[in-house]
Amino acid sequence: MDKFVDVILPLPLYSCFTYALPADLADEVGIGCRVVVPFGKKKFYTGIVRNVHCLKPQDYEVKEVSVVLDARPVLLPMQFRFWEWMADYYLCTLGDVYKAALPSGLKLESETVVEYNPDFESDVRLPEREQRILDLLSAEPQQSINKLEKDSGLKNVLTVVKSLLDKEAVFVKEELRRTYKPRTETRVRLSPAARNEHRLHFAFDELQRRAPRQLDLLMVFLSQAGQGADVRTDSFAAVMAGASLSKKELLERASASPAVFNGLVERGIFEVYRQPVGRLDADADTATEPLHTLNEHQRQAYDAINDAFLTRNVCLLHGVTSSGKTEIYIHLIADALACGKQVLYLLPEIALTTQITARLKRVFGARLGIYHSKFPDAERVEIWQKQLSDQPYDIILGVRSSVFLPFTRLGLVIVDEEHETTYKQQDPAPRYHARSAAIMLASMLGAKTLLGTATPSVESWYNATVARKYALVELKQRYREIQLPEIVPVDIKELQHKKRMNGPFSPLLLQYVRQALEQKEQVILFQNRRGFAPMVECHTCGWVPKCKNCDVSLTYHKGLNQLTCHYCGYTTALPRQCPACAGTDLRSRGFGTEKVEDEVKAIFPDARVARMDLDTTRTRTAYERIIADFQQGKTDILIGTQMVSKGLDFDRVSVVGILNADTMLNYPDFRAYERAFQLMAQVAGRAGRRQKRGRVVLQTKSIDHPIIAQVMANDFEGMAGGQLAERQMFRYPPFYRLVYVYLKNRNETLLDLMAQTMAAKLRSVFGQRVLGPDKPPVARVQMLFIRKIVLKIEQGASLARARELLVQVQKEMLSEDKFKSLIVYYDVDPM
Ligand code: ADP
Ligand code: ZN
Ligand code: ZN
Repeated sequence: MDKFVDVILPLPLYSCFTYALPADLADEVGIGCRVVVPFGKKKFYTGIVRNVHCLKPQDYEVKEVSVVLDARPVLLPMQFRFWEWMADYYLCTLGDVYKAALPSGLKLESETVVEYNPDFESDVRLPEREQRILDLLSAEPQQSINKLEKDSGLKNVLTVVKSLLDKEAVFVKEELRRTYKPRTETRVRLSPAARNEHRLHFAFDELQRRAPRQLDLLMVFLSQAGQGADVRTDSFAAVMAGASLSKKELLERASASPAVFNGLVERGIFEVYRQPVGRLDADADTATEPLHTLNEHQRQAYDAINDAFLTRNVCLLHGVTSSGKTEIYIHLIADALACGKQVLYLLPEIALTTQITARLKRVFGARLGIYHSKFPDAERVEIWQKQLSDQPYDIILGVRSSVFLPFTRLGLVIVDEEHETTYKQQDPAPRYHARSAAIMLASMLGAKTLLGTATPSVESWYNATVARKYALVELKQRYREIQLPEIVPVDIKELQHKKRMNGPFSPLLLQYVRQALEQKEQVILFQNRRGFAPMVECHTCGWVPKCKNCDVSLTYHKGLNQLTCHYCGYTTALPRQCPACAGTDLRSRGFGTEKVEDEVKAIFPDARVARMDLDTTRTRTAYERIIADFQQGKTDILIGTQMVSKGLDFDRVSVVGILNADTMLNYPDFRAYERAFQLMAQVAGRAGRRQKRGRVVLQTKSIDHPIIAQVMANDFEGMAGGQLAERQMFRYPPFYRLVYVYLKNRNETLLDLMAQTMAAKLRSVFGQRVLGPDKPPVARVQMLFIRKIVLKIEQGASLARARELLVQVQKEMLSEDKFKSLIVYYDVDPM
């Protein structure tokens, strides 16, 4: 009987596609295996088998599966359910989820660009097909699979590429150049015959006459390789038997060519061999430390969490900054491991992984795996495969995307800093919230979820206190019983009026910073805006440079002397003259972190200053360096955006300056006050963690704003209570679920018509729940105009039904010819 498979493709398709299985592949395919299939005219993709069956589709002609890539599934049955939940809840396609979930190396398609690995060396001859592809790539190191197929004349080139990927002869091209560690390396040692002083002296003489460059290389080898051996007690042969070097390193040190090297191999002096270099465990220090003993408050919280987990699946740990939440997590992780369970530890941002990794590694050593997007794709593929093996990591520490990893015995999920908005994926789909996804994943696998933070999200607070969906555990003392920092508000409106502001700094802040520097203490300055100035303005006519693709003013980056759009990345040089009035008096307005840095350096020329924002942390090592330098006291003042507010743990910070609270308070979003409170409380919490009470200078023009008073009193409950009352009154989450419907088009007039039509259709099914269409704050991005329709769905109403209706309306829209060019997407639970 003919067999068919339903395949998930990495395309925005709402359903699976069915393919026929050729007879010779019929027995090889299981659910969760990857297959290569043709799609459209000439494309092929890697798909995942969702189902195997014997039902021939009636309404279209079925194509055949080209190749089966896996003998064993790469996706576990439970992961399908998780994907389906995600596509359903976040109103996107399974293809969208698939694209987000798998590392690139596991989902090759004809458009994938592969790259030649110049370090690749093969011990054996490659199959002819593979060699042909490699030859093409060595001539032109980056090519799409499509092009390789054309140029090589080979069929099913994707399998050839897969095999080359497995051998690491090629890589999947990534946007950033990443450091790559090979899986095996070629090492060199003296051949057994040459491990004899007499023979070597003989060789020296001969080489001196015939091949002086080989002699040089041999000398470099001997001087390097013998290091560390005890030449007094060991015989020469014994020392040399244990002495080896990597071939690459040797050639680099000696600046020698491979030909010279091969000469020594041919003479029987050098011997080469390959050695695995455990890439994943390269720095896995197995030496582990015992756990810290919890103090009394921590112990109580720990017991309360364990009690809660007897009856509840989710627990919110609300512990003030530096109360020792991380230590409690470590104890809970140890318990889970002792029961043979796995743990997923989620962090909102890569910036945080460095510190936490070090703390967890000390205790759990090689049982800890780290998964995040700044790792080379090959490493992510390897972690994925390892989690499917019978020796997976017991703990995965990672950001958002680690919820997609396969887990076989998950027992606990920790969502650290659960209030962070970076847990929400913005673009592209799936626009999922990793906290919600983690809770769902845990419940599907029978695991518990712990949400931890000093400043819970209003939603989680509601779920823990009003709706009682989560258990609540509180920890109110700092671990070292140091008081929370003293927060001093400063009215900059008044100071500006009296002309007493020094750039972005009030006299009080400058005084505190000076004192801290004198006492060799550290300072954090927080400004939630990167770049030099948020805006440049013509002083004569008021002209402001705007992005040509988007409706936003450009940010000035002084270091590059450029104007940049933070939405689309468009960059242009700062004009010398105003294009409107030809005036030359262009002035910057406001302060970004870059300008703050300039001013700080001018006022405190002797201080060592570092800046941490998106512009200075493009690579993972850059983050690590900035954080490590500050931790080791190599910098005195750290300036940064919200990145410095995250759960970093520093010893000597005595002063924190919040330069301008107003940009946060004035942000046009219903979460602005909540966010402002969280950011300020968190950044304040970086002060005074070890020795004495810290001080925070909070500069604002809105000195009477209730949020300012709540931050000063660290009155989280007051803030949350006030916000909940407002949200209920104005029908916002957590009382109503929001779905933003975005519409995009190049033609603004047409888009307006589309938006009006769609809103009318939506009103006819959802009635008063529909608001808009409106122009969002940034109403054009990358040449596409944007309109937004808001849907507010009351608690308890069926989201599944809402989804059906939405999809139906969308279909109706797209079925009209004049609306064919409309782009529609949804953002469920927007942040
Ligand atoms: P939080 O995660 O709540 O901000 P941390 O877990 O980072 O707090 O703890 C703050 C500091 O106190 C850290 O440097 C941590 O090592 C230390 N600490 C917390 N609990 C203990 C403990 N039980 N024993 C020793 N040190 C602790
Ligand atoms: Zn002008
Ligand atoms: Zn732009």
